[in-house]
Amino acid sequence: MNQICVIGAGTMGRGIAYLGAINGLEVTINDISQEALEQAKTYIEQTMHKSTEKGFISKERVEDYLSNLTYTEDLDKAVDQVDFVIEAVFENMELKINMFRQLDELCDNYTILATNTSTMSPTEIAASTSRPDQCIAMHFFNPVHKMKLIELIKGLDTSQETVEKAQELGRIMGKETVEVNEFPGFVTSRMNCLIGNEAMNMLMEGVASVEDIDKAMKLGLNHPMGPLELADLVGLDSRLRNMEYLHATLGEKYRPSPLLTKYVKSGRKGRKSGHGFYDYY
Ligand code: NAD
Repeated sequence: MNQICVIGAGTMGRGIAYLGAINGLEVTINDISQEALEQAKTYIEQTMHKSTEKGFISKERVEDYLSNLTYTEDLDKAVDQVDFVIEAVFENMELKINMFRQLDELCDNYTILATNTSTMSPTEIAASTSRPDQCIAMHFFNPVHKMKLIELIKGLDTSQETVEKAQELGRIMGKETVEVNEFPGFVTSRMNCLIGNEAMNMLMEGVASVEDIDKAMKLGLNHPMGPLELADLVGLDSRLRNMEYLHATLGEKYRPSPLLTKYVKSGRKGRKSGHGFYDYY
């Protein structure tokens, strides 16, 4: 396995592409937005240089790693002869289904199709393809190069061989994996969305300030990050999409906090827009 393609050059796609490149994989990154591709390139180059300063990767290897990356708007070219595709477009079922349908037509018959969905059904996404046995969800975490885990979610028809190839890709990328049977939100998003939503409702009710809710969870419950700073990191628009899907599939407990909806409508998307529960200027 040495060639992968990442679809979507946003928060997650650029992180997955970076991780692949520094682990010796040839990576093509595709997005419909040229601007997103340019921002991804800048992010990857900056992250690479920061990692050399911190001694995580050697300066001599940087040019090699950067040459592993190709950025293209052309989907057909992006998936040519790749072993794995990792889809990281917006959390929207229709979009993901359309994307998998196209990928199935364009990719070689040996290519594995993985989705980085945070919550959605890999079975439903794979049903639009002629190869549901070669489809799986590989749920990476943000920031991708720092977080140790990939959650692997098997759809109804995902084969054991596909699971093993996804585990192998995880090993190449230096990650631990857990195997999860499909259910909305899997293990991590289901739990995390609920904690974050409760924090937002507490803020809305005036129970405590943003800073004190986060501080309470970090110092009192030993969470490495507060739920509100974590939501800002994820992206409030992404979090709202996750909540809407969990609400639709799992019920009332997952109704998005009205505060989250209000923030997203106002344009506050967390770190990526410079403004969320905290300011990032
Ligand atoms: P994002 O909004 O940062 O980026 C999405 C990118 O997809 C954008 O650059 C957009 O232009 C691109 N895109 C949209 N339609 C496309 C198409 N048809 N073809 C190619 N590119 C297209 O989103 P994100 O936060 O990176 O989330 C991506 C996926 O990863 C979602 O499924 C999300 O649930 C999941 N995820 C997100 C996080 C997180 O912390 N943000 C963590 C784990 C998983």
